[in-house]
Amino acid sequence: MAFLDELAAGLGPAVRTDRPELDRVRTDRSGWTTDERPLAVVHARDVADVQAVLRLATEHRVPVVPRGAGTGLAGGAVATEGSVVLDVSGMDRVLEIDAGNETAVVEPGVVTDALAAALEPHGLWWPPDPASRAISTVGGNIATNAGGLLCAKYGVTRESVLGLRVVLADGTLLRLGRGTVKGVTGYDLAALLIGSEGTLGVVVEATLKLRRGSSDPVVTIGATFPDVRAAAAAAAAITASGLRCAALELMDAATCAALDALVAAGEGPAGDVPSLSGRGAFLLVQTDGGAAPREADAALDLIRAAGGEGAVAADPATAAALVALRRAAHPAFAKLGDVLIEDVCVPRTALPAMFDAVDDIARRHGLPIPTIAHAGDGNLHPNIVIPPSVPHAPGEIPEVVWAAGEELFRAAIALGGTLTGEHGVGVLKRRWIAEELGEDVMALSRRVKAAFDPLGILNPGKVW
Ligand SMILES: Cc1cc2nc3c(=O)[nH]c(=O)nc-3n(C[C@H](O)[C@H](O)[C@H](O)COP(=O)(O)OP(=O)(O)OC[C@H]3O[C@@H](n4cnc5c(N)ncnc54)[C@H](O)[C@@H]3O)c2cc1C
Repeated sequence: MAFLDELAAGLGPAVRTDRPELDRVRTDRSGWTTDERPLAVVHARDVADVQAVLRLATEHRVPVVPRGAGTGLAGGAVATEGSVVLDVSGMDRVLEIDAGNETAVVEPGVVTDALAAALEPHGLWWPPDPASRAISTVGGNIATNAGGLLCAKYGVTRESVLGLRVVLADGTLLRLGRGTVKGVTGYDLAALLIGSEGTLGVVVEATLKLRRGSSDPVVTIGATFPDVRAAAAAAAAITASGLRCAALELMDAATCAALDALVAAGEGPAGDVPSLSGRGAFLLVQTDGGAAPREADAALDLIRAAGGEGAVAADPATAAALVALRRAAHPAFAKLGDVLIEDVCVPRTALPAMFDAVDDIARRHGLPIPTIAHAGDGNLHPNIVIPPSVPHAPGEIPEVVWAAGEELFRAAIALGGTLTGEHGVGVLKRRWIAEELGEDVMALSRRVKAAFDPLGILNPGKVW
């Protein structure tokens, strides 16, 4: 029997081959759409569906592209030619919350914010908090090792996952890692799967390490600076002083202007948000825990020493408005035009130098690149805006944008940094990965990939 017939016979209505559905999975949130076309999309309902798809795909040598919510920014979940896209977003149950052990067991399609809502009544929370948390899935967070505002203090996704159940390319179901907080039996294959972008296995269940909610105070500071270099120097000084801020978010002048325009258009966040008109940079600082007020005072001293003006938010509503302003950056950029959201990471002391590099690259290429940074961990998101003067088809990223991107990546690597801090390599950064890793690491990584997926059917054309 032909592959599609067998798939339909085995999985029935979970299999979709209609044009709108096939088109939906030809893109993600990167702004790029592939020319390639999948054969089918399968909406897996349970682990058995995932295994059935992979067994059949192995038998017929058909590529399989795992997909969560499709909010990725690197093309990792985008269909490849003749593939089956395995959409696990419907496997979205929270299976267990164990308050005593501070763990939860979840299916991969649980939306990150929905997990937070389920944990809240138990006084528990899961630290990974990508800016996309309202729309991304926990499985996607795991597959990309997602970060977010809080990860400088609370770690990236890998630090908050204890165990996984994973289906390999041949349909084998494995349990990797464990449910205990400690454990060193064998290689840490769960850690290897985290951040593997769907190239080694499909995550069908995860045991998550939680934190207990705290009634300790959170202190929020909003600070402005004459220029981004001063703000970057303040952020680097805060980190170098040993303060571990829960959030340390930096926005440059172009981002301040975009946010100001959003607010002026009446589309900004609710609440009493400060005007960022004419500001050279904005820094959002949050300290938490018992020492929060003292740490906030120390951070304010460093902000002032670097030439900034800052104040502690007077009440929770003002603090919430400051955080909402930061979270409104992406909608603000979207109003400027089509945007390629980039994602490099440098040692934290190199933040001022990386901002200089962004400025120089933006000027030389004549492209606006408003930049925000998770300054607490050196992760910058330069947002390359495609101006109306650069014609491009919908879903196309023009070469002039890649030329600027390439310089950004090389600048980050030259500063001791990396191509991608949290969004992943996917399709879009494949051409630069060897520049960072070198041929020996590339060769070893390909052997690891072959050990998991000898036929190379799992998310081919991604990462490697
Ligand atoms: C506005 C906006 C803000 C964002 N902010 C952040 C941020 O702050 N931090 C951050 O890290 N990211 C951010 N992202 C990127 C994106 O949301 C994250 O990468 C997220 O983790 C992807 O989750 P998803 O469910 O959408 O995965 P998808 O986009 O569907 O997939 C992403 C990758 O994971 C693989 N995958 C998905 N599910 C599975 C699974 N169950 N098993 C195996 N592989 C799987 C896919 O094959 C693909 O390679 C942002 C995106 C947007 C649009």
